[in-house]
Amino acid sequence: MTCECLIELTHVFLDKTFTYNVPLELINKICVGMRVEVPFGKQILEGFVMSISKDKGDSSLKSIISLVDDYPILNKELLSLGKFVKNTTLASLMSSYSVMLPKALKAKKKVNMNIKYDKYVSLNDIDLSLFKLNSSQEKIVSIVMKKGKVLKKELNSISVSSVNTLLKKGILHETSEEAYRYNLSISDKKDFVLNKEQNNIYTEICNSLDHDSVFLIHGVTGSGKTNIYMKLIDKVISSGKKALFLVPEISLTPQIISRFTSYFDSIAVLHSKLSDSEKYDEWRRINEGKASIVIGARSAVFAPLDNIGIIIIDEEHSSSYKQENTPRYNAIDIAKWRSGYHKCPLILGSATPSMETYSRALNGTYKLLTLDKRYNGMNPDIDIIDMNEEFKKTNDYFSSVLINSIKDVISRGEQVILFLNKRGYSSMVTCNNCGYTEKCPHCDITMTYHKSSNMLRCHYCGYARKKEKECVKCGAYYKEFGLGTEKVEEELKTLVPDSKIIRMDIDTTSRKNAHESIIKSFAKGDYNILLGTQMIAKGLDFENVTLVGVINADISLNFPDFRSSEVTFELLNQVSGRSGRGNKKGKVIIQTFNPDHYAIKYSAVNDYISFYNEELSIRKKLNYPPFCYIVLIRIISKDYDKVSKMSYKIGDYLKDKIKDEIILGPSTANIFKINNKYRFQIIIKYRDINNIRSCLYLLEERFFNDKDIRLEIDFNPLKL
Ligand code: ADP
Ligand code: ZN
Repeated sequence: MTCECLIELTHVFLDKTFTYNVPLELINKICVGMRVEVPFGKQILEGFVMSISKDKGDSSLKSIISLVDDYPILNKELLSLGKFVKNTTLASLMSSYSVMLPKALKAKKKVNMNIKYDKYVSLNDIDLSLFKLNSSQEKIVSIVMKKGKVLKKELNSISVSSVNTLLKKGILHETSEEAYRYNLSISDKKDFVLNKEQNNIYTEICNSLDHDSVFLIHGVTGSGKTNIYMKLIDKVISSGKKALFLVPEISLTPQIISRFTSYFDSIAVLHSKLSDSEKYDEWRRINEGKASIVIGARSAVFAPLDNIGIIIIDEEHSSSYKQENTPRYNAIDIAKWRSGYHKCPLILGSATPSMETYSRALNGTYKLLTLDKRYNGMNPDIDIIDMNEEFKKTNDYFSSVLINSIKDVISRGEQVILFLNKRGYSSMVTCNNCGYTEKCPHCDITMTYHKSSNMLRCHYCGYARKKEKECVKCGAYYKEFGLGTEKVEEELKTLVPDSKIIRMDIDTTSRKNAHESIIKSFAKGDYNILLGTQMIAKGLDFENVTLVGVINADISLNFPDFRSSEVTFELLNQVSGRSGRGNKKGKVIIQTFNPDHYAIKYSAVNDYISFYNEELSIRKKLNYPPFCYIVLIRIISKDYDKVSKMSYKIGDYLKDKIKDEIILGPSTANIFKINNKYRFQIIIKYRDINNIRSCLYLLEERFFNDKDIRLEIDFNPLKL
């Protein structure tokens, strides 16, 4: 017997299988999808068994050394899904499989993770009257009799020696079971009834639970999409199937999880805040069929659930569904593939669907379902403040309208959320005299000042150093420009004396559970203002928040990217959605220097359709998605000469081979240097993947035998 193995090296030249003999003693144990140890050159490496053939073997081949697992890690579905990932992202097959698995199960030597076991005791079938028991022994026996199987730890707390005696006498016996380290707290169950609009959508989807159709639920924030998801999942699991529910990482808050645990049992959760061993345990729990609902962020789309009956992706427009590293997949594409495999529907939900998704819904590729009212019927009032005018009056970052509204809301005992998508104190420090601006020595970007630690930090590579008082070039004083959350916090304390502010950004949430504890204490009312970046824009549901303030709506608008208007509209809509979710009417105040920009104007009236139409006409004129697809080819190296020469060589090659699609560049990337590496890019706008795939497929093999240069290919990138 021989088998084909894919080994752990991810280099393109090794992205194929190698044949090994299967030794006699493994013939009855080996299965496709298991990990094996194999000799490779002078090393011993791990790999996956991709296929097995019942031939006689070949004495010129090397043999498998051992099996790593006693069950297949990659089941039939995941094995073919990996090939799909490889074909659509052009990543190697090994990295396509690796991305699906928790660290402990990747094919890689030297990753060792223990399975934890819990010890249980149960009663043997014997006549108890034959024994004389003391009082603690009797107590233990009566507990075990009542419960059947009890954690040994629990009984040990009564008396260790009694437990041991009972075991020795053969009255009790001990068993071990795999323990799962991640435990969701179980809460009381609360039921609810869908209203008419929700129920229409629910019924429509229920009618096609055995098709792989894609639905888009376009529902304003607070319209009750999540409640529809819960009823759909309920329906699916009561028919014995399973459900996969994805949310963006940052909205995977305790709030959404507790909404689910107060309705369902048997939930597994997968997200980046879990430790490696917790992820491993959750993965096994799912794989062993012990969970019928998986809630998770992007990579949970690969959860080893069998018999999936529905896949739901909430906030489908979110950029967090796109993986930025190899393999650069989008979870929505993976979900579509799996919905095809399981013949189950895929539900996309959003208040602001991506341009691509909405155009597919309009042309009938997806079924469009709409909820245009909030569940509580109260849409917040939205005010746009023209900061050009305000700045003339006060030269301040805060309009008087915003400050007065904050004071009002606080005095009524209600709460405020303030949003600014920039952490740190100021975004730039510049010399008053010579104009010198502090830049990162490793990146082509200005350094952000963090006052509490008195550090200048690069938000790209993490480089940090102490901020000097005086200009390092001429000795004059520095001036700070641009506003970050740290400075807002400082200024608000003086502007609004009654404020109790809690700040949530990367700087305040790096500790494990910091995120949860901020949310909890704000929900409890320990603070009256929650100030934060992107992190607070999504998913949060505080019923006492009646004012949301956006301090500078222009940050994302000024980003040099064709999606900047879309991103801004989305973000404003999401933050606005945090206001007035309870039974009090909410208000939103948006400060901007571009009050007439369509992304801002239409946010103010919550008019997605008009925004979509205006944006679509611009996309059409400039030929951007949804009118074409985009692939971004990035060439990166520490060596400027090499990378620039290589970029032109590749550009010429592509222009020579691809005639029917548009090739732009090479040009330097938006941020030309990150971490001492220079970045060039080529963009192809294409309509038919078949015109370009084979050509891109060969790029790496043809041009990249030089270790100093790296190639990245990114299909449908969310940032250029
Ligand atoms: P979305 O997901 O569309 O932003 P949510 O599902 O969070 O909206 O709903 C907004 C609020 O309305 C939540 O507090 C939710 O509990 C409540 N809600 C929605 N639908 C129902 C329902 N059918 N019964 C009771 N409460 C509901
Ligand atoms: Zn840097």
